[in-house]
Amino acid sequence: ARKRDGKNGLQIFDTGMLDTARERHEIEQCIEAGLKEDWFEAWLQPIVSLADGRIIGFEALVRLDHPEKGLMPPGKIIGIAEETGTISRIGDRVLEKAIRHLAAISALDGTQDTYLAVNFSPLQFELTLAHRLAALLLKHHISPRRIVIEITEAVLMLDNPEVHAVLKQLSEFGCRIALDDFGTGYSSLSYLNRFPVDIVKIDQSFTRSLNSNAADVRRKSRMLIKGIRTISHQMGCTVVAEGIETEDQWQLLRKLGVDNGQGYLFSRPMPVDGMLAMLESESEAKASNQG
Ligand code: C2E
Ligand code: MG
Ligand code: MG
Ligand code: MG
Repeated sequence: ARKRDGKNGLQIFDTGMLDTARERHEIEQCIEAGLKEDWFEAWLQPIVSLADGRIIGFEALVRLDHPEKGLMPPGKIIGIAEETGTISRIGDRVLEKAIRHLAAISALDGTQDTYLAVNFSPLQFELTLAHRLAALLLKHHISPRRIVIEITEAVLMLDNPEVHAVLKQLSEFGCRIALDDFGTGYSSLSYLNRFPVDIVKIDQSFTRSLNSNAADVRRKSRMLIKGIRTISHQMGCTVVAEGIETEDQWQLLRKLGVDNGQGYLFSRPMPVDGMLAMLESESEAKASNQG
């Protein structure tokens, strides 16, 4: 394909650009169809206490399960959905399903102990959010204390008064706020001061660099994690490490004073049916060990 360029006459289009435009259009169509046909699901990944591996909560992770194309990961969807604005409707679906899943887990284990962490994009902080969330929680008999709102620095960087107001409402309502992917953005530390943050999630790149081939990198990443942990605790925040894939990483992070963690070592994200089955077989194993 060619187009005229003002200065240089003909300019050849990059076919890669065309592919990107086509793929983008395809994804937009999948999103629209997914909303209409109800293909969006909230998968769950356990968050565990690093002291004993006990499950303390679950993170909801969106999956678009397309009947022909299969599973589409968030990385393909979220960015486009944020640009086109469909993220608000996707977010509503995920929130509603995830809360329903948490209620199902509570019905299974008979406790109200675990929490549910849900990821939010900047556009989702509409003034009606706290009210809508309250209605959902009431419907499923879930306390707001069990909800964690995960945001990234991108949300706080907007410096939008409406976003601040909604975050404050959610916090006063009893929900906890987690700062996701901590350490990868800009001026992270000041946010701990200016916003009602309860949980700091150390980005998985830090966990990964604990395994670096270079001793120097390993030593520095240990120091960084310890530093983040110290500051977070002093600010009254709980610390979660992301991306734990090995036993070594688990033990090291525990020794570095990190409270909680999540990662493939403990469990991959999975649909609620799989999660309920896993929890059930774990509690049966525990019962037979005791009996
Ligand atoms: P995140 O919130 O930081 O979520 C953690 C990501 O790490 C998830 O990727 C999860 O599957 C992955 N992960 C968990 N344990 C491990 C591990 O041990 N190793 C590795 N390599 N990866 C691990 P996922 O599900 O692809 O989500 C990617 C990102 O998309 C999320 O990062 C979050 O920023 C965004 N996202 C996911 N669901 C939603 C949603 O419902 N709404 C919004 N707005 N964003 C979402
Ligand atoms: Mg997250
Ligand atoms: Mg993260
Ligand atoms: Mg992330």
